[in-house]
Amino acid sequence: MLTCKKVIENGSEYIEGDMTRWQRIDYKFHLFMCVSCKRYIQQLKQTILMIGRSPKKQIPEEVEQKLSKEYEEAMKK
Ligand SMILES: [Zn+2]
Repeated sequence: MLTCKKVIENGSEYIEGDMTRWQRIDYKFHLFMCVSCKRYIQQLKQTILMIGRSPKKQIPEEVEQKLSKEYEEAMKK
């Protein structure tokens, strides 16, 4: 079972399609169950689309920090 931490860590791999079929199924299942992660992935996806299809791990640090901050906020609710 994926944890929220893992989902956040591997978010860009998921969006880039850089994982196995089973990992993706696990991921989708988690996103289905967990609204906070779903929201996080949606925002990450928008960010990646915004900055273009750059190689993974190329998300600017400040963007990543902003996203994890928003994620923490979402978890508090
Ligand atoms: Zn989660």
